[in-house]
Amino acid sequence: PLIDVQDVHKVYGHGTNLVTAVAGVSLQVLQGEFVGIMGPSGAGKTTLLNLMSTIDRPTSGQIFLNQKNVTYMKNAALAKFRREQLGFIFQDFNLLAVLTVRENLVLPLTLAGYSVVAINQALQKIVGILGLNSLLNRYPDDISPGQKQRVACGRAIITQPHLLFADEPTGSLDSKAATELLRYLTIINAKAGTTVVMVTHDAFTASYCRRILFIKDGQLFAEIVRQGSRQAFFQQVIDMQATIGGGGRTNGASAPGF
Ligand code: ADP
Ligand code: MG
Repeated sequence: PLIDVQDVHKVYGHGTNLVTAVAGVSLQVLQGEFVGIMGPSGAGKTTLLNLMSTIDRPTSGQIFLNQKNVTYMKNAALAKFRREQLGFIFQDFNLLAVLTVRENLVLPLTLAGYSVVAINQALQKIVGILGLNSLLNRYPDDISPGQKQRVACGRAIITQPHLLFADEPTGSLDSKAATELLRYLTIINAKAGTTVVMVTHDAFTASYCRRILFIKDGQLFAEIVRQGSRQAFFQQVIDMQATIGGGGRTNGASAPGF
């Protein structure tokens, strides 16, 4: 497996003020999978994703990424590992306002010390795929949320990460922009073999996954695998949300449009 999570717990707080966000989760994700994580608000989805993506450390348990135990990896080594192997898409984009779209896009390559030639090659490729040409000299504050998310997505994949983590990537997008992003994630998953792990509370967004893990109260509750059409899978997701209760919220991306 590319991701191997072994009996992971995460407890926040001190003394009598403890919150158990993740309560003994074990899971595996194979190379090339497109996995969703769903569950009610407060179920521990973001915490679990942050643990898997090395942004946060577990209180107990072990996490292996690409056979490497990252649980106790030192910060400097972790930063390098992250830069070289992982991509992140956050709900609020995390673009730097003082940098242009071009500068935001190539930031991971600049930080990793790529040559100008290599940077330009990678940039051209991403710009072509994501249709960002006309935006390159603009600043994040001057473009739409959908455009921002495309830039954030480009920045996440410009290093061609093995593994892409996304937390509610369609959360701030209208349904058209959400669909575009999801199509794009599907393409890089299928063509580039990028393994994608995506947190969402939205059934339409989730229907693009091949497998969905449902969590509740910090524990795995159920798992569904897409077998037929995306439409049928969407219905399965809705049914599971009803079963699990307490969080079948939807956003703009839930408009029909299969
Ligand atoms: P989800 O993403 O499913 O909505 P989270 O992983 O954000 O859930 O949160 C799970 C639980 O852990 C919630 O009860 C939340 O309040 C708590 N929690 C998350 N992060 C922190 C933190 N940094 N400090 C304290 N409690 C936290
Ligand atoms: Mg969350």
